[in-house]
Amino acid sequence: MSVKRRQVLKGALSLSALSLSYPLLKPAAGFAAEKTTAVVIGGGLSGLNCALLLSDFGIDVILLEGSDRVGGRAHTADGVETRPEYGASEVGRSYARAIDLCSRLDIRLLPDIRSLLPMSNYVEGTWVRSGDWADSPVNRMADNERELPPLMVGMGLLSRLNPLINLDDWLSPEFAAYDISMRELFLNNGVSEAALRLAGVPLDLRVTSSLGMMQERTRTLFDANFGRTQTQAADTPFGLAATREEGEETFPVRTIEGGTSRLPEAMAAALGDRVRLGKVVAEIDMSGSDAEIRCLDGSRYSADFVVSAMPFTTLRNISVSPGFSGRQAEAVLTLGYRGTTRAWGVVEEPYWEDDGLEPSFFTDETIQTLVVLDKLPGEDTHRCSVIFTGPSAARIDQMPDDQALALIESEIARIRPSTKGRMRFVDLYGWRKNPLIQGCRHLFGPGQISRFAREMIVPHHRLHFAGEHTRRMDFGMEAALESGERAAFEILQRA
Ligand SMILES: Cc1cc2nc3c(=O)[nH]c(=O)nc-3n(C[C@H](O)[C@H](O)[C@H](O)COP(=O)(O)OP(=O)(O)OC[C@H]3O[C@@H](n4cnc5c(N)ncnc54)[C@H](O)[C@@H]3O)c2cc1C
Repeated sequence: MSVKRRQVLKGALSLSALSLSYPLLKPAAGFAAEKTTAVVIGGGLSGLNCALLLSDFGIDVILLEGSDRVGGRAHTADGVETRPEYGASEVGRSYARAIDLCSRLDIRLLPDIRSLLPMSNYVEGTWVRSGDWADSPVNRMADNERELPPLMVGMGLLSRLNPLINLDDWLSPEFAAYDISMRELFLNNGVSEAALRLAGVPLDLRVTSSLGMMQERTRTLFDANFGRTQTQAADTPFGLAATREEGEETFPVRTIEGGTSRLPEAMAAALGDRVRLGKVVAEIDMSGSDAEIRCLDGSRYSADFVVSAMPFTTLRNISVSPGFSGRQAEAVLTLGYRGTTRAWGVVEEPYWEDDGLEPSFFTDETIQTLVVLDKLPGEDTHRCSVIFTGPSAARIDQMPDDQALALIESEIARIRPSTKGRMRFVDLYGWRKNPLIQGCRHLFGPGQISRFAREMIVPHHRLHFAGEHTRRMDFGMEAALESGERAAFEILQRA
């Protein structure tokens, strides 16, 4: 057998083994199909933007959303004390589509003036204030690594090695050599073991493509510097230092008045009865003259075009015929997703006045990061949030929510006794547990960008692809909107 044939067979075997581990959804026996020109599956920002654009251009469109609300990962927890954002909250200054949509839909953007209170570090069982970190004996990193705060070690080191300049450089074969794990990149560049250990707390370095993270970093820097002159340009980590230069008109980060959910809700309202909730799509059959889309509740839709605006975590559970092949099949089945789990609470008394440490903290133990937010005028309490990402999110997600909250409270009290009785948690949300999303965001593994980042969004028969994971130049909510726009224009060219 030739090597080529053996490789093809090996690939086919591993793909079929993978598909076996994802049981396909089975629709109930159905009603007559409702006919339309385009069906968009998924009511997150990408699907909504795609449907809105198609309808603006006179295309008959139906949007099917599996859950009982639109917005997907834009989700304001309206009924919860302090109204946390489970997902997106920050609108960057260069988010042209999001800003334009807000203005069209009469949604106000407000400057994000609630700043994070400074962060101490609890590393190897020892407390170190931020100002003492660089010279602390607990800081075992080498030379110029030492100045990096523990939470920022991974992204700080990656920034120093990032060669990308333009927003689409990550797709250029010129930079394929960076499509290796962050661990390999750091080892190749002499990063110390101590830095590797700290960088691995918020991010699993072995399964994360350096090039994928460089794309995000490049987009973040673009946002931080957008509209600034060369002299003002700042290397500000987006979302962690929402500072405004003196005399600047635009805030780096804004939020949506009343919560992020107001944007997808307004988009859905503009689409009216073309948005159908509670429609979990189970099959996309393109073997006939039209595409037929079948839902778990038995409803069926027939369309000339279909848009998958759902993450690959759920697309891989849907029966699609003709099936995907080659690298596109590999992408749908293997693209990685990362979890983020957060707990929200209130600080009823400033415990930091007792122990002299800074209010927020990072640890290399179970509680990865606790951030405390500044009070706004008229507020009695500070808001706080524990954030688990990467390996720590995987661990906490294995527990039922009530046990996870109890563990969070007891761990914080154990490592920082001054917090006892002064902090109260009100809610917890883990994106990996959302059955229709199953992760906070996609994360290319080493080698995956070179293998399938271009191929994975090529239309498959009548099926087009949107969703933040199909981004080209953007990040976060803007990536979702960008992808919906691209899919809509692909269809407009064919319709
Ligand atoms: C914790 C967190 C914080 C974030 N912070 C920010 C931020 O501050 N700023 C920023 O710009 N971005 C942020 N983001 C990213 C942003 O939220 C996402 O990029 C964006 O909302 C993704 O939109 P989407 O349409 O691609 O996917 P989603 O929002 O996931 O939408 C997919 C939709 O498809 C539906 N669906 C899935 N399967 C099916 C099916 N079989 N049938 C029917 N429907 C189905 C799902 O229910 C879901 O509604 C954050 C994300 C998270 C999770």
